[in-house]
This record gives sequence, structure tokens and C-alpha cells, in this order.
Amino acid sequence: MPNYNDKEGTSQWIDNNITAEFPTLNNTSSEDDQLYAKKVESYMIHKCSSGSVNSCLNAEGRCTKNFTSNIIRNSTSFDERGYPQYKRSTEKSLNVVPHNKKILMAWDGHANVEFAGSTFLVLYLYKVNYCIILMTFLILQFSTFIKAQKK
Ligand SMILES: [Zn+2]
Repeated sequence: MPNYNDKEGTSQWIDNNITAEFPTLNNTSSEDDQLYAKKVESYMIHKCSSGSVNSCLNAEGRCTKNFTSNIIRNSTSFDERGYPQYKRSTEKSLNVVPHNKKILMAWDGHANVEFAGSTFLVLYLYKVNYCIILMTFLILQFSTFIKAQKK
């Protein structure tokens, strides 16, 4: 497993590989940027639902995937259980599902990618059936990053 104690390095690594930000477009945005924003809007926005089989709201009306707890953050940090608190710098980003831009562009569908820096998170990811191959790739990449940092 990667060295999880280097919080700053880990946050930086997460920001380089995983984003929960809604893309900001302007006059100079390329066609690729526009397509990316469209994909985020179509595939990567969490919408809380109740009453159905896939409800994410508990009896108190709070999202069990924690989207109702998301706040604007200008950097990625970790909560006391080691869960990453992804950078979400705009109101529009609060319901963005964490993802990897390159994978989303190639995948053309919902592609949730989250950081698995602790065994607890790996189990969680496995439980909700994320793409394990993808995670392995990210973990390997993270190990490389840690090794590079130690030199
Ligand atoms: Zn929800």
C-alpha cells in the first residue's frame, strides 16, 4: 500500500488524478473541454433520490453517499476516518462524483474513481463494484509517485 502518512503529497496526487470539480468553461475552452463538461453533466452528477430501490437518502433525509455533507473546499483533505474530502471549489461541484478526466473522456459513461489509500477504502470500493483494474492502475501509479518522492 502507498505511504498514507504523507498527507500533502497524497492530496496532491489525488488532485492530479481524481477530480470532483465541475469544469469551468470560457471563451477559450476547446471542443475537448466542452465535451468534457458535457460528460460530467450527463454522467457524473449525483442526484439524491428517495422512495425508489436505489434510494440514497436515509430516514433523516441525509445522503448515505455523503453528498448532502459536501461543502466548498479549495483543496483536498482527509476526514478522521481517512476518507478523502475532495476539492470542490464551486457550488456546482458539490454533487460531482469523483472521477478521472482521461478515463471519463475515453469511457463515455459513468466512471466513478476514488482514492483507495487505505484498506478500508479498498473494501468499500470493492463492495460497490468499482472497476478494480482501474483502481489497481491508480494504486500502482501512486506507489510510483511515493517512490519518486522518497528519492
Ligand atoms: Zn444522494
